[in-house]
Amino acid sequence: MSLLPLADAQQRVWSTIESMGTITIPIGESRGMVLGQNVVAKENIPPFANTGMDGFAVRSEDITDASADSPVELTIAGTIAAGAVAERPLEAGEAMRIMTGAPIPDGADAVIMVELTDTDGPDASTVRCNASVAPRNHVRPAGDDLIAGTELFEPGVVITPAHIGMFATLGLEDVEVVQRPRVGVFSTGDELITGPQALGPGQIRDSNRPQLLALVAEAGLEPVDLGWLPDDEAVIEQALRDGSQKVDALLTSGGVSMGDFDFVKTILQKLGDMHWMQIAIKPAKPFAFGTVLGKPIFGLPGNPVSSAVSFELIARPALLKMMGYSDTQRRSVWALADEPILRSPDGKTHFTRVRVWESVDGAPRVRSAGAQGSHQLSGLALANGLAAIPDGDGLQAGDRVRVILLD
Ligand code: AMP
Ligand code: MG
Repeated sequence: MSLLPLADAQQRVWSTIESMGTITIPIGESRGMVLGQNVVAKENIPPFANTGMDGFAVRSEDITDASADSPVELTIAGTIAAGAVAERPLEAGEAMRIMTGAPIPDGADAVIMVELTDTDGPDASTVRCNASVAPRNHVRPAGDDLIAGTELFEPGVVITPAHIGMFATLGLEDVEVVQRPRVGVFSTGDELITGPQALGPGQIRDSNRPQLLALVAEAGLEPVDLGWLPDDEAVIEQALRDGSQKVDALLTSGGVSMGDFDFVKTILQKLGDMHWMQIAIKPAKPFAFGTVLGKPIFGLPGNPVSSAVSFELIARPALLKMMGYSDTQRRSVWALADEPILRSPDGKTHFTRVRVWESVDGAPRVRSAGAQGSHQLSGLALANGLAAIPDGDGLQAGDRVRVILLD
């Protein structure tokens, strides 16, 4: 069986996946989700002209001649706190104390900041202005940020904290977003145990399930722990049937390679409409994708590094597409090998676990993060990137390489 280029595998999965429907949720729960509606400013923001500084509202023409050497004295005609309004318009020769965010009183056209004035204490009846100010000085006009009717955001926007701030500014309580997929994670294999108890002969601890649940959560999706499955056809079949009812997408790890007890493969062949892939990458060559009872399922390989790498390269972008994202790729950078990173030709792209850092000259550099076996999770745990090393003999120090950033 010839190996499938990674881009073809990604495309095959990507093109099958559809975005979830939309729901309406409180704005405070919408961070990281994808907007499903247009957002239009219904009112001017700010709604009224207000001051950007603490100081005195004045008529700029009254203090044209003011300077530190010859201050101009004005009568204090009141105080306007944020949230209050002036009791009457400002008249010639007057100033009103005004706090940041308070409405500019009628009659005033500028604010002189408190630092450019002197008064004889809080009860003073006059203020000395030590400088002139231009008309509109420190005045933030109504609609200075947004004019009523402005179309601000369109469907497809990924919601950040600043968007949530804008929703609140506009008086939105709820917002329509693409649903967050619930992603169920199974682990499979008779050799697996969880928890601290002593390992029996041939046993290892289940690391894929906690790792995949964490990867799902880190991507902003909703993880659902569907537990561990023994290598037993009937149990696996029932669990996949039940699991597919509870979640929007399924991840399994293990049981999809060529072994005698790889029953996940047998059951998926029976229940699912599956693509079996041998991808031209190392680690994570075997991969299965399809639908089981209407739900997308990703059959990840069992080795811990392989399952994480196939999640990163194929499942994660597809799951983000379900959540409405159009840009589903991790950030990547070109980096210079800081040491030789050698490999042998085998027709595959190697995703080497690396440490990438910004060097003093500004160019990112990479070194191997440690052990590179697909069972050697320690190397992945020490890595913050996956370097895509093309087929061939690897890199010499100073060679350029594309690195997918994991953090
Ligand atoms: P399999 O594809 O089921 O043959 O698994 C391949 C390798 O991955 C074997 O060495 C398994 O023991 C190991 N493996 C499978 N699932 C897990 C898991 N959940 N946690 C840790 N190792 C696993
Ligand atoms: Mg197994």
